Amino acid sequence: MTSIFTQRNLGKRTDVLIIGGGIVGCGLLRDLSLHDVDAVLIDKKDFTSQTSNSSSKMLHGGIRYLENFDFKLVFEALHEKNLWLKLAPHLAKERKFYLPTFSDSKRPLWMLKIGLFLYDFLSSFQNRPHQMASASQTLKDLNGIRSHGLKGAGIYYDAVVDDGKLTLEVLYDAVLNPKCRALNYVSLADLKLPNEEQDHFVATLKDELTGETTTILAKDVVFATGPFTDQVLADIEGLKWKPCLLPSKGSHLWISKQALPVTESLVMVGKDDRVIFVIPWHDRVLVGTTEKVMNGEMFDLRPSQEEITYLLDALKDYFPDKNISSSDILGSFAGVRPLVKESDTNDLGKTAREHKVFSPHERVRVIVGGKYTTFRVMVQEVARELCLKNNQAYSSEHTKRALRQPSIIPAFTNKELDAASRELIWRHELPRIEDDLLLRRAGKIDS
Ligand SMILES: Cc1cc2nc3c(=O)[nH]c(=O)nc-3n(C[C@H](O)[C@H](O)[C@H](O)COP(=O)(O)OP(=O)(O)OC[C@H]3O[C@@H](n4cnc5c(N)ncnc54)[C@H](O)[C@@H]3O)c2cc1C
Repeated sequence: MTSIFTQRNLGKRTDVLIIGGGIVGCGLLRDLSLHDVDAVLIDKKDFTSQTSNSSSKMLHGGIRYLENFDFKLVFEALHEKNLWLKLAPHLAKERKFYLPTFSDSKRPLWMLKIGLFLYDFLSSFQNRPHQMASASQTLKDLNGIRSHGLKGAGIYYDAVVDDGKLTLEVLYDAVLNPKCRALNYVSLADLKLPNEEQDHFVATLKDELTGETTTILAKDVVFATGPFTDQVLADIEGLKWKPCLLPSKGSHLWISKQALPVTESLVMVGKDDRVIFVIPWHDRVLVGTTEKVMNGEMFDLRPSQEEITYLLDALKDYFPDKNISSSDILGSFAGVRPLVKESDTNDLGKTAREHKVFSPHERVRVIVGGKYTTFRVMVQEVARELCLKNNQAYSSEHTKRALRQPSIIPAFTNKELDAASRELIWRHELPRIEDDLLLRRAGKIDS
């Protein structure tokens, strides 16, 4: 077997080494690639196998952040959502969301109306305008919704996205430039900081599948390791790192559409006042999410029994006649939000979703936090700095170009994985093991 290091042309040097192949790392690699900067990205697991494949699969402004007065974030996210609807219509689709209100709801219809107007306003009226629905209309549109106490619903527009495929297509676009290379199942085993005579770091990379190691010299290093950041940086000798994250786990269930035959998306409010999205998706319905402070191992998480019960209870409350139970669960997944600590709160709901860039060494950047929706703008500050260092003029417009390398199995389809597609995926979509081909390239759900 050819070594992954030679197969993907790793080489001995690079200008920028990016650790982490979620949406943030891949987004940064693409930005650098479009500016012709030499860069290498590595991920300890498969690309986009962690948080960036475990989101609520929405490109959205974040309607609930309005209550925290995070207007800047909502504005930015709404503009990005509307941009991606145009740039990648095969990966992001506009969806109508219902916010049903009951006589005992904390937010009455008039309050929803004000919030939804503000949401449209912050999109610079690019959103399709919100509407209000009567109780009878809501009952008609949301098959099986509880009628007792129902007052009506606010309706607004956001987008759903195939988060795993968007990350992969961003990556495929990046590696079209041969100066940009990406290696999965390759971890950072050691990083030696430059001494006074050196202009480079010495990074030892380890192939997690074969155990093979190699070294590469890098002028700059960027950590885009999401919720793993504190753990990864704690292991690097010589870097002064103060833990900055409040990792928060969130889980989702795939419910069979036969059990929950909704055709429109809706927002439920759980007993603890958290929002839970219900999103029809092919032959199934996505339900989530939960929110729980996390400690310990964060790779490849699964929902706990407590989280499953919480989500099923919310469904029972909103759809009392459907008798939805654990036997209706087709699959599930969990991820960890890389929330950056606010100095004055440990309340997850109030912790801002804005990103931060830290610099624990003059040539190390750590980019963390934010939301999937805003990845393109999140990485620009770091990309600009690295382009200028490498004598490339920077334009924030480059990443507004369309993606050039579509997936073999398109998102939102039930295209079969035949032998020819399988062969093309092995050749062009960089999986290293069969499970990754099935789960993230062919769209099989994790059961
Ligand atoms: C439950 C949930 C729901 C969400 N819903 C939404 C939503 O609907 N819309 C939205 O906009 N945002 C949403 N988010 C937020 C969004 O998913 C994240 O902000 C985003 O995916 C984070 O991407 P990332 O690249 O920073 O992290 P990740 O995707 O986790 O990428 C980090 C990568 O670093 C790699 N790594 C770790 N250690 C090493 C190492 N030592 N060497 C090499 N690689 C390493 C990991 O394998 C991983 O692939 C949600 C998050 C969660 C958890």
